[in-house]
Amino acid sequence: PRHQFVEEALQSRAYEDTALPIGYQQTISQPYTVAFQTQLLDVNPYEKVLEVGTGSGYQSAVLKILNADVYTIERQRDLFRHTKIFLPSIGYNCNFFYGDGYKGLPKFSPFDKIIVTCGAPTIPQDLILQLKVGGVMIAPIGEGDIQVMHLIKRLTKNQHEITTHGNFSFVPMLKKKTS
Ligand code: SAH
Repeated sequence: PRHQFVEEALQSRAYEDTALPIGYQQTISQPYTVAFQTQLLDVNPYEKVLEVGTGSGYQSAVLKILNADVYTIERQRDLFRHTKIFLPSIGYNCNFFYGDGYKGLPKFSPFDKIIVTCGAPTIPQDLILQLKVGGVMIAPIGEGDIQVMHLIKRLTKNQHEITTHGNFSFVPMLKKKTS
């Protein structure tokens, strides 16, 4: 129910295939992009999934519907506070964290899958190390307005394989400072 994830004034546009503002200069991703990333992620029930960029919580809800065990990080404090309350209130229980997604959640690693929902300038190496061997990370990589969708599969402890899956446009992944 995407209309529940946007403010009232935008609810009539909730089922358009476009990103929409969710305040704090952030957006809820375009439905096509959510579908594309979710398909690449190929989640199986009970898999442990780390999401970077909780935002509105829409992608987290999609992962919950696929029966994933969801860990999600947001660096914008007000969004974190809002979504941590909102998402369980409509029936989606995730593990919410306030912090820097670049660092991931080493304490809760390893993950079967990692999904990055903001544009990272470079591949976040710390996150690869938090994947199980055989695990997959989907991340849009690139500076500026356009990012290339990357699928990074951890093959062994020290080896990974990268494939690319077209161009997308995400809000930037912000480094270090949380707000
Ligand atoms: N998955 C969200 C998409 C929100 S847009 C949804 O379905 O609505 C991307 C989000 O990534 C924004 O909320 C932004 O604040 C957050 N973000 C940006 N840099 C981050 C970082 N370093 N760590 C965690 N979250 C970050």
